[in-house]
Amino acid sequence: MLKNKAFEGALETIKGIVGKEHFYDSYEERLCYSYDATLEEAIPDAIVFPGSAEEIALIMKTANEYKMPVIPRGAGTGLSGGSVPVKNGLVLNLCRLNRILEINQKDYYAVVESGVITQTLNDAVAKLGLMYPPDPSSMKTSTIGGNVAENAGGLRGLKYGVTKDYVMGMEVVTPTGEILKTGTRTVKTATGYNMTQLFTGSEGTLGIIVNIVLKLIPAPEHKESVLAIFKDMNQAAQTVADIIAAGVMPATLEFLDNTTINAVEDYKHIGLPRDAGAVLLIETDGVKEAAVKEIGRVEEICKKNEALNLRKAETEDERENLWQARRAALSALARVRPTTILEDATVPRSRIPDMVRGVNEIAKKYNIRIGNFGHAGDGNLHPTILTDERDKEEFARVEKAVEEIFDLALSLGGTISGEHGIGSAKARFMPKEVGEVGIRAMYAVKKALDPNNILNPGKMFV
Ligand SMILES: Cc1cc2nc3c(=O)[nH]c(=O)nc-3n(C[C@H](O)[C@H](O)[C@H](O)COP(=O)(O)OP(=O)(O)OC[C@H]3O[C@@H](n4cnc5c(N)ncnc54)[C@H](O)[C@@H]3O)c2cc1C
Repeated sequence: MLKNKAFEGALETIKGIVGKEHFYDSYEERLCYSYDATLEEAIPDAIVFPGSAEEIALIMKTANEYKMPVIPRGAGTGLSGGSVPVKNGLVLNLCRLNRILEINQKDYYAVVESGVITQTLNDAVAKLGLMYPPDPSSMKTSTIGGNVAENAGGLRGLKYGVTKDYVMGMEVVTPTGEILKTGTRTVKTATGYNMTQLFTGSEGTLGIIVNIVLKLIPAPEHKESVLAIFKDMNQAAQTVADIIAAGVMPATLEFLDNTTINAVEDYKHIGLPRDAGAVLLIETDGVKEAAVKEIGRVEEICKKNEALNLRKAETEDERENLWQARRAALSALARVRPTTILEDATVPRSRIPDMVRGVNEIAKKYNIRIGNFGHAGDGNLHPTILTDERDKEEFARVEKAVEEIFDLALSLGGTISGEHGIGSAKARFMPKEVGEVGIRAMYAVKKALDPNNILNPGKMFV
């Protein structure tokens, strides 16, 4: 695809701002930045790698002059098309901003640049006996900036919450090129609008997050993990609802269905039971006595729901092996057929059994294959449709099934996205959840901050 001639002047100026070594515009380079993990594709005119907030501010001022789209990009692992340049323009890659600026052990916070890889922060604070709880399965690759922009969740979400619960403040470059500081380093603040939460989950449409103040907590002293094997998926889903209803709060409560178990086994050979209808991976943590007591209660509930087998991890290696199985779920399913459509519809946790049953019925109705796994403890399932988009007839059935999955989640009091965001992939469904007034209010905020609609256009709003 040819570059847009109208942006030539802007791109020359921007190359001058960052230096030519931090600016890519060959066809091959543009192709490399034309997708995210959805594999949706659109080619940018160029890619820039700024090294500071001041450079980003100058880039945004130039882009505004030429009304050129700018698309912030972290690691490109997004699952809703967020960093795909659907209106072309300039991809602004934040990977050079990758320093941990401070870890404050007295006041329990860290200050990081947005391009820091999530796992890097996790490892750095763990060495000090601290924990940064949000742990998306992509954490070895995704950036903190991308996590904040998507309000990413993770395996520990049930007990510890998601990214938004740990963002205390940030430095943001606005779409018009001003540098804004939000939030504080204090536990509490009641000063003005909560701008920090406005930018959290804004999917790169309201500002470019440059650095972030993140809450830390003391790491738990002890962990207990168990794999519970069930003949039937409904029994597993009921167990999840019963554990929550019993007042037990595991750190993680994840589930894999039979299709996912087999895909993971084919890929990783971990030793999961191929004939199980579903497995639950459960971890309790905290003070040793409490974690042991809680896992005991969990085991009782699993047995009451006729678990076929309970396998406890006795060593750290065994524990890591169990979590490997869960983290590999999406990659494993993605190997089964040429096209993978992963959804993240989320329901109130007590409605998990209804959601699981409903998704199975939708799969039968449209004669398609759906693997199901997810953060069952917080109601966030990942029905994953295994298909081939080149088969037009099958794909038409898949599109109907996707819409029915969203309708089902909403009818159960849920949401169309628990953690992956709206991006371009789900924009047309957003009015179903927030209504026309909701869309108008959100767009008014967007317009106030980005009058020329240059920051990540084509996302969230159709
Ligand atoms: C195998 C796999 C497993 C995954 N598991 C999970 C999971 O468990 N939980 C979960 O929540 N997600 C998961 N994801 C999705 C994805 O990893 C997350 O959405 C992650 O937060 C994206 O981070 P990123 O750095 O790759 O951002 P990108 O994909 O590059 O960008 C995502 C969005 O954020 C915006 N953005 C990025 N950086 C900035 C910034 N500094 N300022 C403003 N906007 C910015 C982009 O414009 C885009 O809209 C998974 C993805 C894969 C491929």
